[in-house]
Amino acid sequence: MAYDNNNIFAKILRGEAPSFKVYEDDKTYAFMDVMPQADGHVLVIPKFPAEDLFDLDPEYAAAVALTVQKLAPAVKRAFKAPGIMIAQLNGAEAGQTVFHLHSHIIPRFSGLEMKLHARQLADFEMLKKHAAAIIAEIK
Ligand code: 5GP
Repeated sequence: MAYDNNNIFAKILRGEAPSFKVYEDDKTYAFMDVMPQADGHVLVIPKFPAEDLFDLDPEYAAAVALTVQKLAPAVKRAFKAPGIMIAQLNGAEAGQTVFHLHSHIIPRFSGLEMKLHARQLADFEMLKKHAAAIIAEIK
């Protein structure tokens, strides 16, 4: 499948669709997932047109990993989460639904199940507050 320039994350990168940004640098962009599987669910994407990890320029793969490493502790602190799940799905069969590579950062707590994947739209005011709480914890 060829990369679709009109996928929703490509539109977010071009500023054609809104997002609750938490971080940006020259190679990556991070924002709140609008259908979070837990409070504080963040997505990190490369500024590079790749559907999945196998299409991604290694420099951008490294940049995504570095941004995840920077943001996951901020998410952990902001939500006082004992565990953080990092997930990155490749292909529809693996559960991927948006075909611009992304890493999920999801806070985890014992006894608290994650919500279903990409199902329920969150309250936008709450997402804005969550983004601010994470931004305040970025070092
Ligand atoms: P995937 O299933 O491809 O691993 O993950 C796609 C993620 O993108 C899902 O967690 C879904 O909730 C999220 N998502 C889908 N559409 C949008 C959108 O328009 N904005 C944001 N911020 N997240 C989205």
